[in-house]
Parts: sequence; structure tokens; C-alpha cells
Amino acid sequence: MLKKLFKSLRPPVRNAKHAHSTPVVLNSNQHPIQRGQISRYAISVVERLQNAGYQAFLVGGCVRDLLLDVEPKDFDVSTSATPEQVRAEFRNARVIGRRFKLVHVHFGREIIEVATFRANHPQGDEEENSNLSSRNENGRILRDNVYGNLEDDAQRRDFTINALYYDPSNERILDYANGAHDIRNNLVRLIGDPTQRYQEDPVRMLRAIRFAAKLDFDIEKHSAAPIYKLAPLLNEIPSARLFDEVLKLFLAGYAVYTYELLVDYGLFGQLFPASAAALKQNPEYTDDLIHNALVNTDQRIKQGKTVTPAFIFAALLWPALPARVLRLQERGMPPIPAMQEAAHELIAEQCQRIAIPKRFTMPIREIWDMQERLPRRSGKRADALLDNPRFRAGYDFLLLRESAGEQTNGLGDWWTLYQDASDSERRNMIRDLSAKDDSAGAPRKRRRTNNRRKRNPAADNSPAQSND
Ligand code: ATP
Ligand code: MG
Repeated sequence: MLKKLFKSLRPPVRNAKHAHSTPVVLNSNQHPIQRGQISRYAISVVERLQNAGYQAFLVGGCVRDLLLDVEPKDFDVSTSATPEQVRAEFRNARVIGRRFKLVHVHFGREIIEVATFRANHPQGDEEENSNLSSRNENGRILRDNVYGNLEDDAQRRDFTINALYYDPSNERILDYANGAHDIRNNLVRLIGDPTQRYQEDPVRMLRAIRFAAKLDFDIEKHSAAPIYKLAPLLNEIPSARLFDEVLKLFLAGYAVYTYELLVDYGLFGQLFPASAAALKQNPEYTDDLIHNALVNTDQRIKQGKTVTPAFIFAALLWPALPARVLRLQERGMPPIPAMQEAAHELIAEQCQRIAIPKRFTMPIREIWDMQERLPRRSGKRADALLDNPRFRAGYDFLLLRESAGEQTNGLGDWWTLYQDASDSERRNMIRDLSAKDDSAGAPRKRRRTNNRRKRNPAADNSPAQSND
């Protein structure tokens, strides 16, 4: 309701003469945000800083989300006080940050992040006159720690919709970049020249996708146009930062749409080169498997359930395995070692691009290993597998593979029944297996034929089946 009202209000007319230095001001009756929607800790941080004589505002995602009737993830504060000055005001504050200093003010489990106003780095002549170069040859900003005033701070932010400042003391919003206009029109638009802003920080391309997916906004056409061409700049970004960004991309509850946008804009291949190659080689199967995994991820997040990043990475990379297993087998490696080696290589290669920490790569391997073990159910093996802490993830992954068309001979259904069966039913199920054939213990041998590539892609894409 309020959001609609906000969208229908005519925006105040900007004084063109002072387009850059005078913000559009939205008074409390011109926007729907109410103080009650804001974390009281965030308000207390702002008021404390203001009482100490500094400028302070709520800024960024929280203002944007409140205008859109979305619950903010967190509340960020922007201030004229330096990190040291902020820390001096609060007992519960810690200065953090490598790229630039920030202050975290702790209130129990809630953290209010306070950042000092910063400015864009000087470019061209201005920069040549300074003795430290802050950009690399592609224009990427290497240091981002120049303090500035409020207006500088607005201009250095990424998107117009992220550059709105809310002052809880008078309930006004300051808009230096026409962000309110873009919120009304559902647009993600970079502040300034898009190519330059992406060159300064290529991660902004990923952020554009993330906000477009999360808010169901379009990327404004000038901001969208350079992405495809500039996507390779992501290569320069440290793998640890990309890991953080990828988690944000896939864990925000809009992973399916995010994935589609990443593919359309040529960014997916920069993040997951092997998966993108699989997508080319085997489009239908690969796309189905990834898509279904992400549908499931989004659903779980909407239901408030936990999602493990390992499962998502396991799914994203799985379609890239068969080609590698095959390559190793063609070099004479037996199936099981080939599978192990392929998994190892693939993860190691992926970690060069995105630094997936060990606490996630281990479970990826375990989920994949489970795929080799789930077909082997004879004797006491089935019960031992049920007790395995990775059983559930392994079983879910099996169903995922089946949903993408992999032929597993009814293995998923079998495990579904087995889990709910009584002891005697279980015994019968195991007996039936060994009566039928020995597939429970030893899946059939994979034939090496010359026309392998032409066979059913689903069967081709089952690295687990090659482990017999
Ligand atoms: P959310 O927290 O909902 O994901 P957000 O907009 O708050 O979205 P953060 O990553 O928390 O995103 O960043 C806070 C603010 O800092 C942004 O709103 C933006 O103004 C600014 N910002 C973040 N990253 C960049 C960047 N790479 N370049 C310029 N400004 C940025
Ligand atoms: Mg935020």
C-alpha cells in the first residue's frame, strides 16, 4: 500500500543548476518509511553520532529495501566521523576491515556497520599529480580509502538505488543520485559512466545482477550494455572476494533468476568456467540439473530452512565431471580412480577462480562419493549408508540427478521406500535386489564405444555410474 503510494507520488523537481551538489529531499510525508521499521540500535547509533556533532545517516540497502516494502537484511550507517572517532563514542565498537576501515557496533547479536564518508578516487590528471597510483592499468581501484563529504560519499556508491540517505531525526531522505526515481521505475542504474564504474570494480557487474534478481528490477540499458564485454574483468578479482559474492548471489532466495541473468550476461562462465563448458556441450541436462538445484535452494530459503553451499557447488560442478572422467579413462585410468582424480582436479581448478573453503570442498566430495555408494546396497551396506551423516545430502543429490534425466534404474525410488520401510520390509528389499541381479553390489560395467557422445546425454552425464 505505502509502497504503491510512494510510487505514485510525483518526484520533486531537481534544480538542474545544482544537480550534483543539492540533493532531492523527501520529507516524511513523501515516503513510506517509518522510524518504527528501523532497528532501534541503528537509530541509537545515528543519534549518538549526531549528538556528538557528526553527520550520520542510515544508508544503502536498508533505505532501498524499506522503500520497496522489503525487510532489510541489515542496517548500515554512514557518517562524517572517522573510524577512530566512531569507536571513541561507543564502548561496544570494533574497527575492522582490510580494504577500508569500518566500525562494527555490537548490540548482542545485532551488528550495526558504520562507515566514514568516502570519496571516489581521483582519475587522470588529478591522479597523475598524486604520488600513489590507486588504479591498475584496467582502471580497477586498488585503494578505496579516501575520506570525503556526504555528497562525495553518494557519488562513490554503486547504484542510484543504493545512494539514499535517511535521517531518523527528521525522517527525511536525501537523494543525490535520483535513486528514488529509479526505485519508482524498478531500475538498477549505475551512478556515473557505467564502463568506468565497472572497470573500477568489476564486482559491480555481479551486484547489478544480484539486485536485479532480488528486487525484480531491470538493469537500465546503459548500465546493462557493457557487462557482456567487460565480464572477463572478473578474472582480476581475488578468489576470496568472489567466493563471498557468489554466496550472496545464490543464497538470497532468488538463485534461479540470478543464475539465468548470470548466463545471459556472460558472467556465469567467468565464475564457473567448467560448468559453462558443460552447459555448451550438454545444454539441456546441465541446465536442468543446475536449475532444479536452485529451485530447491530458493524454496528452502523461503521456508526458512537451512541450505548448504556445498550442495549448491556440488550441483553446479557435477555436469562438468563426466568429460573429465572420460578423458582420464581414455588415458587408461580405471573408472574409480578416474572419478576421484577428476573430482579432485575440478575442485582444485574451481578454487583458483572462487576460493571455496575446505569446510565446503570436503562435503562436496562426500556428496559426490555418495553417488558411487548409493547403488551398492547389498548385505549390510544399505543400513550403513543410512547411518552416514552425508546420507541425506547424497540422497537428495541422487533425486536431483534423476530430475535432470539421469537414468539410475529407479535408485531414488528404492531409497525413498527403504527409508520408510520396517525392518522386515528392508530385509525383503535387500533380498529382492540380490535375487534380481548383482547390480546392488556391482553396477554394470560401462562399455567403451566409439559413439559414446551420441548416446543419451542423461546416461552420459552420470559420472557416478562409471564407477563400477
Ligand atoms: P544487501 O545488504 O541487501 O545485500 P546493500 O545495498 O546493503 O544490499 P552491501 O553489500 O551491504 O549492499 O553494501 C552497502 C552499501 O555500500 C551499498 O548499498 C552501496 O551503496 C555501497 N557499496 C557496496 N559495494 C559497493 C561497490 N562495490 N561499489 C560501490 N559501492 C558499494
Ligand atoms: Mg547491506
